[in-house]
Amino acid sequence: MTDQTDFASIVADIARERPDDIALTYYDRSWTWAQFVERIQRNAAAQRAAGLQPGDRVAVLDLNHPSCLETTLACAQVGTANAIVNFRLAPPEIIYVINDAQAKILFVGPEFAGAVAQIREKIPTVQTVVHVGGENDEYEAWLAAHEPDPEHYPARPDDCFVQLYTSGTTGFPKGALLTHRGMLSHARNVATDFELGPESRVQVAMPLFHVGGTSYALLTLAQGARISMLRVPDPVAVWDMLERERITHTFLVPALLATMMQVPDAEERDVSALQALSYGASPMPLPVLRQCLKVFPGKMHQVYGMTEACGVVSSLGPEDHDESPEKAHRLLSAGKPIHGVEMEVRDPATGEPVPVGSPGEIWVRTEQLMAGYWQKPDATESAITPDGWLRSGDGGYMDADGYFYVTDRIKDMIISGGENIYPAEIERVLVEHPTVADVAVIGVPDDKWGEVPKAIVVPAPGQTVDPDELIAYSREHLASFKCPKSVEIIDELPRNPSGKVLKKDLRAKYWEGRERQVV
Ligand code: ATP
Repeated sequence: MTDQTDFASIVADIARERPDDIALTYYDRSWTWAQFVERIQRNAAAQRAAGLQPGDRVAVLDLNHPSCLETTLACAQVGTANAIVNFRLAPPEIIYVINDAQAKILFVGPEFAGAVAQIREKIPTVQTVVHVGGENDEYEAWLAAHEPDPEHYPARPDDCFVQLYTSGTTGFPKGALLTHRGMLSHARNVATDFELGPESRVQVAMPLFHVGGTSYALLTLAQGARISMLRVPDPVAVWDMLERERITHTFLVPALLATMMQVPDAEERDVSALQALSYGASPMPLPVLRQCLKVFPGKMHQVYGMTEACGVVSSLGPEDHDESPEKAHRLLSAGKPIHGVEMEVRDPATGEPVPVGSPGEIWVRTEQLMAGYWQKPDATESAITPDGWLRSGDGGYMDADGYFYVTDRIKDMIISGGENIYPAEIERVLVEHPTVADVAVIGVPDDKWGEVPKAIVVPAPGQTVDPDELIAYSREHLASFKCPKSVEIIDELPRNPSGKVLKKDLRAKYWEGRERQVV
């Protein structure tokens, strides 16, 4: 990696050094570094011609497409920022995010053109809508109409060029201001841990509105490595690309890996080029992990992280993916902090460190941290302490060897009769039951205990779930206060695109009109 301190200069340097190497492939198209940077410079020229000034926002509402990365890097060059919208949001939420960002240009994929036409009057800050791809593509003409502009805005390390919204599992989405400093230190720290270098071929399968997409793509580019991008993370397409493009590194979420393991020829695929398969963003069910370990032995890296830290803060390497009795418990751990990251477990109420092995909230300090939430000083102040620690909102503990265990979102923790219950612990037991394909445990109101655990269960194919039997099974493995008191059977758990179960949605009907106590 060069000594440059902003992303626009980094990619420009690589394009000067290796103009004819491939930077990016997208299905049957590919772009050399020289072509890629030329497109970024045209995008920057077009943003300037549209009157955008440093500090302004553009927004993207699209499935994965190289134009989103080009726009992000053009923003780095102009001093603007790309607010990438979660395309799974409902129209009122899309309106909320675009208005929150005050985006002036909106790039829209063909799948969302109709929705944008309907909300057009409700997003008044947007001066220009650029349709990207499909039959009505305007993006290519928009680029072609502007000569490449090599001028770089003098970026400061703390300038934001990517604004990613938290998924809103805990409230309204907030725009995390991701900066050159944060993204660069993330790029360096992760690349050191994953041995990702200029020769690597990296699959970008996860959505670009999430750090698992955009930060992963940016750290790849910062290393001068090649990106192979998928528009949507279809399980067969992921497999095909891993084989065909001899992918060396990928990041996939557990829910996608679970569907990939169901693909009939999963075990016969040639993944010999693969060096590191990172997974994370939500808890990994052990049965899925065991299957993955058979198919990708020695390659599984768990990563734990969050938008506010540009992505990864800890990892569990292949050497700790060991099922021997002495080490098997480590499979439940999110590993140790990566290079450049400090992690501690603190009492969420007092902020004091807790003893080794005791539960508390995971706190993170690193140069990777966001500058704050866009135009939300109060939320920023609650999230980051004056001495630079991010309160992750995750419950967890650290063991005597320095491994961190993420138990649950603190807001999802169940407080029953004064006892703290971690739903993940119960889910891990229930998912091992042969009739269960997927499960989430939530707290539901109870007159005696305040709240009690309830299991929401998706039956395994061809199986019938017997609630009484499942509760009896949990009693064999868990203390009785942790056992679910009731079971609801559903077809599918509501998840966000990074695979997190939307527990807030599952809880809603049980808590209607009642206040839930959280730590
Ligand atoms: P919101 O802040 O609105 O709830 P979010 O939590 O979905 O949004 P993200 O930044 O997308 O925001 O996700 C970060 C969270 O994902 C972490 O705080 C943690 O709860 C969870 N997570 C990430 N990696 C892992 C992992 N390896 N194991 C378990 N949970 C993980």
